[in-house]
Amino acid sequence: APRKVEKLRIAVQKSGRLNEGSMKLLKECGIDVPAGNNQLKISVDNFDAEILFLRDDDIPEYVQDGVADIGFVGENVVLEKNKDTKILERLGYGKCRLSIALPKGKKPKSIQELDGIKIATSYPFILKKWLKQNKINADIHVISGSVEIAPRIGLADAICDLVSSGSTLFSNELYEYQIILKSEAVLISGNNLSKRRQELLDQLLFRIRSVKKAKYTKYVLLNAPNENLETICKYLPGISSPTIVPLAKEGWSSVHSVISENDFWNVIEKLKAAGAEGILILPIEKIIE
Ligand code: ATP
Ligand code: MG
Repeated sequence: APRKVEKLRIAVQKSGRLNEGSMKLLKECGIDVPAGNNQLKISVDNFDAEILFLRDDDIPEYVQDGVADIGFVGENVVLEKNKDTKILERLGYGKCRLSIALPKGKKPKSIQELDGIKIATSYPFILKKWLKQNKINADIHVISGSVEIAPRIGLADAICDLVSSGSTLFSNELYEYQIILKSEAVLISGNNLSKRRQELLDQLLFRIRSVKKAKYTKYVLLNAPNENLETICKYLPGISSPTIVPLAKEGWSSVHSVISENDFWNVIEKLKAAGAEGILILPIEKIIE
């Protein structure tokens, strides 16, 4: 009989807000997931992995129980389910807030005035913890969907729900009063991976980190007069040091380096002041260090 290949079992949301971002990230990591026709499980051809397509609510438990080894899921779900898993990496997509929203016109001066109200939510665990930390006594009414209609039908005075643009709140005559949690998609793992699966996970994590780093780093090319090279290089330390290539034009060089998205505009101003010309900024696909 052929030896059974151990595969890394990766849980991904089957459909919904996190599916696209998760599949895109896997693709950027060089993991080709064949287009499946509504399957629960698909094997990857070019990496020892299989993808399990699940409801996001189920992912923390499946990872805890070892049905899946790792999962891509919202931090909000991880914290609410409170299973025995660990967060390995924040992934930068699926960003949202878990917030308390109130009907328009209700404007408590402090969160203490929430005392005694009834809050509808699908996140009782996180909300309860927050209320306790802030010494607020409020009633929690758990509902699983369409939380935003609760105040209108007289089920609750307020809601605690996920918000990104705020348009759902707006169309229900509610507004975001207090943020309780800032969330994004995260990668979680269980605690008992076999040696081979841990090896595969380490490879995947290395790829994810390379992709992430590339996203907030840009490649810079510019031309500079030789007498200012020293100043210019000071602003562009690069990964180890910038590359300098002489130009055909006498007394000028081309400088190649990388800069972080964060100090991008700041650095560009300084480079221009130091006589840099023809500045090109290019996206980077991956950074392997
Ligand atoms: P499933 O069928 O898998 O249970 P769902 O309806 O529970 O799906 P989605 O609405 O697809 O879940 O949201 C999945 C995750 O996307 C959320 O848990 C959250 O982390 C993230 N998210 C980002 N923005 C929002 C938003 N505006 N509203 C809801 N979730 C958001
Ligand atoms: Mg869900």
